[in-house]
Amino acid sequence: MHAAELIERKRNGEELSAADVREFIAAYVRGDVPDYQAAAFLMAVWFRGLTPAETFALTDAMVASGETVDLATRLGRRVVDKHSTGGVGDKITIAVGPVVAACGVPFGKMSGRGLGHTGGTLDKLESIPGFRVELTTEELVEQVREIGIAVAGQTEDLVPADKRLYALRDVTATIDQISLIAASIMSKKIAAGASAVVLDIKVGEGAFMRTVADARELAREMLALGEQAGMDVVCMLTDMDQPLGRAVGNALEVREAWETLSGRGPADFSELVVDAAAQLLALSDLGVDEGEGRVRAEQALGDGSALAAYDSWVRAQGGDPDPDRLPSAPIVRLVPAPATGYVRELAAREVAVVAMELGAGREVAGEPIDHAVGVVCLRKRAEEVAAGDALAEIHARDEAAAEAAEAALLAAYEIGDEPEPRPLVLDVIR
Ligand code: URA
Repeated sequence: MHAAELIERKRNGEELSAADVREFIAAYVRGDVPDYQAAAFLMAVWFRGLTPAETFALTDAMVASGETVDLATRLGRRVVDKHSTGGVGDKITIAVGPVVAACGVPFGKMSGRGLGHTGGTLDKLESIPGFRVELTTEELVEQVREIGIAVAGQTEDLVPADKRLYALRDVTATIDQISLIAASIMSKKIAAGASAVVLDIKVGEGAFMRTVADARELAREMLALGEQAGMDVVCMLTDMDQPLGRAVGNALEVREAWETLSGRGPADFSELVVDAAAQLLALSDLGVDEGEGRVRAEQALGDGSALAAYDSWVRAQGGDPDPDRLPSAPIVRLVPAPATGYVRELAAREVAVVAMELGAGREVAGEPIDHAVGVVCLRKRAEEVAAGDALAEIHARDEAAAEAAEAALLAAYEIGDEPEPRPLVLDVIR
């Protein structure tokens, strides 16, 4: 395999064979293809795209680059998983996992960290005092067997090709290519061994997919990859023009997930938790349809069993589930509304940048983060506000950071006439 010749063929719009793609990825992971050639390959793909056969070959080659876990066989049950393409305020896993486990369905999941403006479940979980995200595969399997739920960081050996390629894409402006995103996500889902997965494809200003048309294309590619791998996939297209729920920031989001499990969560977030849980239960071995899944999910939220599942999950991973033990920021500043009216827009990406600049996120992988800081959007789209009422809370480490955040957060809000209603779930594709 001659890397330069393969890059040239891709650059010229030729279709590569599965063997070409497999060898290129294997050579990259071995260190025989340097980053500069892989970067050139990624840019050629960004301009030329991949055919369905190439996307499948890439996914397959990425899965083959490391270890695979057969969770379902090891547990003797169908295991369900969910994955979000990345959003702002997206703490769904932390609430959905316990709901699904409380309904008797094994939930074993490997999650990632936040990078750029999107948050990561592992960072959120690490705001819980004592919570251990680094489980071995053995520990993950045992914990799911014993208490029905475990969420851990991806092991080093799971799809190492994605780890390296994702880092390279992040610095070469090649993240936002649909086939590369599909292969990246699905290779990790396939290698982690769930039988079925619900993919929450975020759409809008705060997401990788800016339009419903692009999100549908990504859904189609991921459904095809799932089908080839024998995995049941359901794609939910959900709004990410504004943050999900009210809290953006690690400990603040964990608290909101806990409140939701206690039946006191924000309406949009609670709705999506039930929707996603219903889809997951319908994909499980319970033999229920989505309607019955919804009834059971609501029951688990109402009768305290989902909250009990959260408690035992957090304790099993060494954490303290008491929300009062979460870290809190020393400064909490209320941001007053500059005018009377309705919130017409609340720009998710801008809110995320404010939270990141307060210290809740990282621009470069490996940077430390501040788990306590962030933003709580007290008013969201279509909600009324009077001039001077609190629009949002800023949780900051010091006054200077709070001051800088206030102006930026106000710029994320547009106040005016009542906006047209916009649904949270835009489509479900299976
Ligand atoms: N999430 C992933 O895991 N990979 C991508 O390429 C984009 C989002």
